[in-house]
Amino acid sequence: KTLFLNGRYLPEGEASVSVLDRGFLFGDGVYEVIPVFGGHPFRLDQHMDRLVRSLAEVRIPDPYDREEWIAVFQRLLEENPGGDRSLYIQVTRGVMARRDHAFSEGLSPTVLVMVSPIIPPDPAVLEQGISAVVLEDHRWSRCDIKAITLLPNVLARQQAVEWGATEAILVRNGQAIEGAASNLFLVVDGVVVTPPKDRQLLAGITRDLVLELAGEAGIPVMEAPIPADRLREASEIWLTSSTREILPVTRLDGSAVGDGRPGPLWARMHALYQDYKARLREGGA
Ligand code: PLP
Repeated sequence: KTLFLNGRYLPEGEASVSVLDRGFLFGDGVYEVIPVFGGHPFRLDQHMDRLVRSLAEVRIPDPYDREEWIAVFQRLLEENPGGDRSLYIQVTRGVMARRDHAFSEGLSPTVLVMVSPIIPPDPAVLEQGISAVVLEDHRWSRCDIKAITLLPNVLARQQAVEWGATEAILVRNGQAIEGAASNLFLVVDGVVVTPPKDRQLLAGITRDLVLELAGEAGIPVMEAPIPADRLREASEIWLTSSTREILPVTRLDGSAVGDGRPGPLWARMHALYQDYKARLREGGA
């Protein structure tokens, strides 16, 4: 497996980063994950726009222009052939001379890009759905930035797993916000609802595509805050992310969501999404 680190293409086992890297010591960095289907990156412009925005928000200079980034991705995809894959991009503020919270002069960002296989969901997951638990959102107040600092997300996901669930739905001030690594959709009275973009959640690329595809198909959609007690009234709950697509949640805190089966609107959305991917594989999306 070849990865890209600071301008070099290296076997994974030979790549290393200093212990004084600010990513390692402070979690001072941002990242992006771009799925690649049939060799075609999924919504590349949107992912790159989000990376540029994350970097700007935390004041890390963008080390490359878009053509340079894309050249790195192309070379890595050539060197790591395979089926569906994802590109993981991480940029930290760089390596310090000594441990100091404030940015020091002359830092140059540490840039890592690597390719991983996408593991398709178990067919049982799409037939039966997943279970989720509701947890308090313990993250910071800039969840719109895709920061590598993921401790609250890690603890939430682990709590979910220990309770026999797949994902945690995070609640802040009585509002359901998103999953620990996914965006949240509800179906209430036949309308698909997702919380509006703000600093409390990550503006998911899959979320935007779901809204777009639903709109084109004439499925009613609405961006509105979701009070946590609405979760129990929803006939369907979905969680979306680049690597896990649209997952139907059929059990919430141990109780059935709707009739406990993946719902009809989920099935439509899932099919629309698979069509979109098929078009992308053929190079047309
Ligand atoms: N929300 C959080 C907190 C995430 O970490 C992610 C992605 O991993 C998402 C939402 C979904 O974003 P995307 O659809 O761009 O993968």
